Amino acid sequence: MTQIIAIDGPAGSGKSTVARAVATALGWSFLDTGAMYRAVTAEVLRRGIEPADADAVARVAAEASISTLPRVTINGVDVEETIRSEPVNVAVSTVSANPAVRRAMVTRQRAWAAAQPTGTVVEGRDIATVVFPDARLKVYLTASLDERARRRGDEGVSSVTRRDSADRERVASPLRQASDAVVIDTTDLSIDQVVEEIVKWLKTPN
Ligand code: C5P
Repeated sequence: MTQIIAIDGPAGSGKSTVARAVATALGWSFLDTGAMYRAVTAEVLRRGIEPADADAVARVAAEASISTLPRVTINGVDVEETIRSEPVNVAVSTVSANPAVRRAMVTRQRAWAAAQPTGTVVEGRDIATVVFPDARLKVYLTASLDERARRRGDEGVSSVTRRDSADRERVASPLRQASDAVVIDTTDLSIDQVVEEIVKWLKTPN
């Protein structure tokens, strides 16, 4: 079975940067599941569908073919830049709270991981709690709100706060720390320090 490191945490906690760097350090692959929810959201907005229209949004998710590397595409269209835009920041928490969207993404995430010839690092909000509850190592990253907003740059503190509350308070797979996750506060740590810590935990016999 593929070895998996599951990394969860709120916006700006450093998940993508750290997950990518851990994957590089280990020679493993990497999956940014936030990019998948963002890609569905970009497609929903492009088609003029209301993000709260659960059935129409679910259809988009069920039918979508998504890839995240080397660039994020949905149904063959490159959305690498669009997924970081303000309209997507605003709508993504609504789209990702839709249980049918989550089912469609989780199926793809599990199939993707199962097909990896190496171990893989997967990051998101529900990776350790729902998608891969048997992951080899579970990591929950945090950082102060000021630092997280600084890292998210243009998105701004109010948008980051709003997205985090929506992600924590939704019914379907809310952002939660798995009870057996290693918690790392990245506020005052460099990327290299966080990577070192994760690799150390991976090598610690459990
Ligand atoms: O990680 P990122 O900020 O790109 O995620 C964008 C949004 O996608 C989150 O705010 C959340 O609503 C959603 N998401 C999710 N489950 C995941 C990853 C992301 O609901 N596993």
